[in-house]
Amino acid sequence: SRKLFIGGNWKSNLTVAQVNAHVNEVVNTLQIDPAKLEVLVAPTTLHLAQVKSILRPDIHLSAQSCSPENMGAFTGEVAASQLKDFGVNWVLIGHSERRSFFGETDAVVAKKVTLALAHGLNIVLCIGENLSEREGGQTFDVVARQLNAVKSAVTDWGKIVVAYEPVWAIGTGRNATPEQAQEVHVFIRRWFTENVNADVAASTRVIYGGSVTDVNARDLIGQPDVDGFLIGGASLKPAFKTIVDVSQ
Ligand code: 13P
Repeated sequence: SRKLFIGGNWKSNLTVAQVNAHVNEVVNTLQIDPAKLEVLVAPTTLHLAQVKSILRPDIHLSAQSCSPENMGAFTGEVAASQLKDFGVNWVLIGHSERRSFFGETDAVVAKKVTLALAHGLNIVLCIGENLSEREGGQTFDVVARQLNAVKSAVTDWGKIVVAYEPVWAIGTGRNATPEQAQEVHVFIRRWFTENVNADVAASTRVIYGGSVTDVNARDLIGQPDVDGFLIGGASLKPAFKTIVDVSQ
């Protein structure tokens, strides 16, 4: 009963010409059953305007991050209110690359969530353990810690899609197995039951990210608690279309 959700996170990729070609040839030609599936693309901040001007209106446009502060003297940042004002209604928050390469702590993630919701944005909230945490048996602890960190910041879970992205699976070609993804998604849903309520646990989309391809998508989406994907590398290629096709 949860609508599937597939996001393409383009990260820091593509030139203007490549953006135009990819939107026209791949993204805008996707076949989407709107009763079953929502699709989102997240280009760089620089390319938001161009993508907005050519993107099919039924596909969500997302920023990859937002400022943890309001508008003001914060050089290099784009505030959540500015995204909303510009007509961008979605933002990725807490991506592991933000956390690990740019020092985004759980506290910063919570500030971003607060501001994004205050300004009416929808959020893809990214969480997940790294390799040493998985090998140390801490996966559930890490995921729970990351969810606990935003719990009091979230005023409306209906505005949030949770992306479980194990760091060891991102960009490595080593995806979580369907069983590994399902196990953590069930844990996340149990966290919702215990920390929010049963309705939110049942209705919140929990999507998987990390080396999703046109080859492994079908098995992953076959898991009952995998509600879609957040895709990096394959979202830049025609494979994105195949993933959308096999998921519906
Ligand atoms: P890859 O699909 O390239 O592994 O990236 C996943 C990701 O980080 C999506 O946000």
